[in-house]
Amino acid sequence: MCRLPATTAVSETTDVEFLQTDSWQEALELKAAYPDAVPIAGGTDVMVELNFDRIRPRAVLDLTRVPELSRWWPENGRLRVGAGVTYARLITELAEPLPGLAIASRTVGSPQIRNRGTVGGNLGTSSPAGDALPPLFTADAEVELASRAGTRRIPVAEFVTGPKRNCLADDELIAAFHVARADGPQQFAKIGTRNAMVIAVCSLALSIWPGQQRVAACIGSAGPTPIRSGEAERFIAGVLGEHDLWSKRPPIPEAALAGFGELVERAARPIDDVRGTARYRRHALGVLARRTLRWAWEAYRCA
Ligand SMILES: Cc1cc2nc3c(=O)[nH]c(=O)nc-3n(C[C@H](O)[C@H](O)[C@H](O)COP(=O)(O)OP(=O)(O)OC[C@H]3O[C@@H](n4cnc5c(N)ncnc54)[C@H](O)[C@@H]3O)c2cc1C
Repeated sequence: MCRLPATTAVSETTDVEFLQTDSWQEALELKAAYPDAVPIAGGTDVMVELNFDRIRPRAVLDLTRVPELSRWWPENGRLRVGAGVTYARLITELAEPLPGLAIASRTVGSPQIRNRGTVGGNLGTSSPAGDALPPLFTADAEVELASRAGTRRIPVAEFVTGPKRNCLADDELIAAFHVARADGPQQFAKIGTRNAMVIAVCSLALSIWPGQQRVAACIGSAGPTPIRSGEAERFIAGVLGEHDLWSKRPPIPEAALAGFGELVERAARPIDDVRGTARYRRHALGVLARRTLRWAWEAYRCA
């Protein structure tokens, strides 16, 4: 059922139309009819922008009542997770198949934010500091975009095009993301100026994929977008493959951990800002890389 237009006055001169529907098809129709409407899911980014008067949209499109967005299910050997699944549900329902994303979700905001905030919203904002993004990058997740004309699936690394920029067209909505189940340990670590309610100074997601004998690492909050550290990944795949450490499962040699950390540091493209200096971010990423690789490999050895 579509209620249109329910108009809320926000000032004497500017009204914001509030568009609401409980039908996915109608949501897509509304986005086509109002291409400049701002979709709202948990509202934990949108409301901040509205409250600080950083945006003043002509219309807001409420997606919270669309049931399709808050469902997840297995599909073609992967998981299809609706854009409206909250962090709280990811933690309780998907920690086993998506451990890296669940660990990252536990670091987001506070219980209130995790109860409202969604991965779809994190994708929509496309901040380099978005905590859900690095785990999606290490899993080569795909983002499903939908419009009245149909759907398309884009690798997450292509979806995010710059700081707070993505390739969502004006008539499109994020329907879901598609991601492989973990077949090995995954980790996420984040540096902040305090323990909770903090935007990452920098972060690192790391996934071990024993089935493909590879390690994937992605840097957060130290570049214009999340950054996969390809050289570090190739280096460690070489070390693990050369002596068949995948089967023998000894501890990773210290020199290999150090080399991996150095290459992750080099892949970062950090800036100096109020949260930290570029130099500190690089150093911290080296530490996080060594630490997360050690944690994940130890879990693999003991599995
Ligand atoms: C106090 C506080 C603490 C926070 N802490 C963290 C943190 O630790 N880590 C972190 O990563 N983030 C944090 N955030 C930011 C925010 O919670 C996350 O980015 C969250 O994932 C946003 O999800 P949401 O559902 O609330 O998105 P919304 O605010 O509803 O939307 C965010 C953006 O995505 C768009 N959007 C939403 N859904 C769709 C869709 N289906 N299709 C197309 N576009 C869509 C919106 O138009 C908007 O541009 C914090 C925010 C607050 C207020």
